[in-house]
Amino acid sequence: MFRRPERTGGGWTGTGDLSLVDDTVKAQVKEATDIAETASRYLRLKKSGKGYAALCPFHREKTPSFHINTQGQYYHCFGCGKSGDVFSLVMEMEGLTFVEALAALAARAGIDIRKGRSDEEVEQARRIAGAKGSLYKMMGEADAFFRSMLFRDAGAEALKYARKRGFTGETLEKFGIGYAPASWEALREHLNRKGVNDKWLESAGRGSARISSSPS
Ligand SMILES: [Zn+2]
Repeated sequence: MFRRPERTGGGWTGTGDLSLVDDTVKAQVKEATDIAETASRYLRLKKSGKGYAALCPFHREKTPSFHINTQGQYYHCFGCGKSGDVFSLVMEMEGLTFVEALAALAARAGIDIRKGRSDEEVEQARRIAGAKGSLYKMMGEADAFFRSMLFRDAGAEALKYARKRGFTGETLEKFGIGYAPASWEALREHLNRKGVNDKWLESAGRGSARISSSPS
């Protein structure tokens, strides 16, 4: 009678573009890129100590307080406090997202962030990432639905039973206890309203099977 749908894909960001990127790729691009060389595309650099100085692109100034540390491969402005690495520099200067900046730097360095994957394979990785994100969201919606059912007419009997067994409102909340009606029609309608269409529910297969399984 009581159930809580399992959550899947914990920690998944659902950002399809990230399917192209992992820490190895990021490290590889950083290794192959020099922050001073990159900065020199946007700024006039002057040798200063062990690195370079320039007029800060992030605030107005007449004397350079924007410093590039070539050893640490980072920048810091002593005037406005902005600092970061080569990725944030390109993001800021060109108004790009992290993935876009990484892709641009990788291209310059001749690194294939697709790891030899074809357009099709990249597209498939994106689709899978998107589907995982949707499934996770759907399970969350289903969870909320089952919980709310406990406090509706359909769940009245179940709630009475739970109260008799000594479940307080706090316990119900803490353990995410809900009520699953015998028919999954109501859930399907609820998910439809949340933008999950039947076709998607069918293609989700495993997910829909779990939802349609009759309550124990
Ligand atoms: Zn500055």
